[in-house]
Amino acid sequence: MTDPARTNGRVHTDGQGHASPPRQPAVITVTDLAKDYSRGSNVVHALRNVSLRVQPGEFVAVMGPSGSGKSTFMNLVGCLDRPTSGSYLLDGVDVPSLSRSQLADLRNRKLGFIFQGFNLLPRMDALGNVMLPMVYAGVSGQVRQRRARVALDAVGLGDRIHHRPNEMSGGQQQRVAIARALVNAPSLILADEPTGNLDSRTSVEIMAILQRLNQAGATIVVVTHEPDIATYCSRTVVFKDGAVLSDQPNRRIVRAVETLARLPPDTADGPA
Ligand code: ADP
Repeated sequence: MTDPARTNGRVHTDGQGHASPPRQPAVITVTDLAKDYSRGSNVVHALRNVSLRVQPGEFVAVMGPSGSGKSTFMNLVGCLDRPTSGSYLLDGVDVPSLSRSQLADLRNRKLGFIFQGFNLLPRMDALGNVMLPMVYAGVSGQVRQRRARVALDAVGLGDRIHHRPNEMSGGQQQRVAIARALVNAPSLILADEPTGNLDSRTSVEIMAILQRLNQAGATIVVVTHEPDIATYCSRTVVFKDGAVLSDQPNRRIVRAVETLARLPPDTADGPA
């Protein structure tokens, strides 16, 4: 994370020699965020004046029934769409005021995406897929290779860097996608149903990896409709009818590695 706005570990003084804790901007600050869609002559209020903050190092589960606004929220937070009204600061940057190319640049520098369907390029091996975001970020070839290998090692795939997606299990493909999301050291990782296509054990393995990244400082927002998956997160935000129904810290965060230790051992993917 090379963002100069980040002040990890540094102590600031208040001008009179008194130490004060370093101030970090929230990663997400949305205020009165609204998104309307027109459908024929009707207007659908997909998001209605949503206000919330996500601080650095949080691991947030976004839940709610189908049609409650989760995807709309994630699309706005992911800089893939613009709000109808309201404000959104990503790491202190005023997102709605940016041009299309500035948005693309911000997305590439500050966000990592993980999708339910993995979204890997089938003709590229794991290394090629993980290197891709760095191509767009203008990182030199040698550095790309080195960083992609480190990211694949971090998700336990150091020995499969030349496998293509169709030569890997679903869990392994999702690990490649996590490595790809990590590789530009983003301020925020957005995961949309990351375990939706995976069996129970593999889902917990993926959550163990995300928990480990979160403990190392990553800020993560994950959409899920599985209550079990939300128990691995530190906070749960529930949407209903385009508004926040509840927003609670999780009192008891379940450690995915402990769940794994209780599950019968498995086969394809190995330990997280
Ligand atoms: P969720 O992800 O919780 O299922 P969505 O954010 O996809 O909810 O949808 C919220 C509401 O907005 C729903 O009523 C949905 O039909 C509507 N909606 C979402 N996208 C569009 C769109 N592109 N055009 C029209 N209506 C949409």
